[in-house]
Amino acid sequence: MTNTEWSTKDKEYIKNKIRDIQDFPQPGILFRDITTLLKDSQAFEFLISKLYMRYKEYNIDCIAGIEARGFILGAALAAKLQKGFIPIRKKGKLPATTISEKYALEYGFSEVEIHLDAFESKKNSKVLLIDDLIATGGTAEASIHLIQSAQGECVEACFLLNLKNFTGLDKIKQLTPVFTVLDIE
Ligand code: AMP
Repeated sequence: MTNTEWSTKDKEYIKNKIRDIQDFPQPGILFRDITTLLKDSQAFEFLISKLYMRYKEYNIDCIAGIEARGFILGAALAAKLQKGFIPIRKKGKLPATTISEKYALEYGFSEVEIHLDAFESKKNSKVLLIDDLIATGGTAEASIHLIQSAQGECVEACFLLNLKNFTGLDKIKQLTPVFTVLDIE
């Protein structure tokens, strides 16, 4: 049985399962690839169990995951917690009526969406937001706004990886409590 605290050994174990890919998806980007963690059944189970131990103590109604890797972590955790899962997707992917939020990228804009009725079963649903990584925080900030616009309340944002060279985490901390598993350069 695992506890909620992350020891240095726990963190190293998970960190060593993540692969860095240079210049993907474009030159200059160091991509943090979690597929190597996901395909390792023991490491994936360990991560989800640790998150489960933390969030089973929380009063949450559902988990919202950010496309695409937030779906994988969020859905696995939601099933273990016996909570529902809400997808936050790139523009044009969700089939029913949506709410959208545009946000700035380094160059240009992106847009994420949530279903308008995502939280209609319970007004002011308590939502845990999850994604694999936070960098500038633009995606997470837009996602928190979407949760609020759909009448949900974001009780915490959880990221497997925080890229410390960016200031996204500080921005998100102004909006909601935050939990990160690994803070990396
Ligand atoms: P940001 O909005 O800048 O915080 O970027 C976070 C989103 O972009 C997350 O959904 C990540 O999966 C993805 N992302 C950004 N930078 C990286 C990176 N270096 N490696 C892997 N995913 C990234």
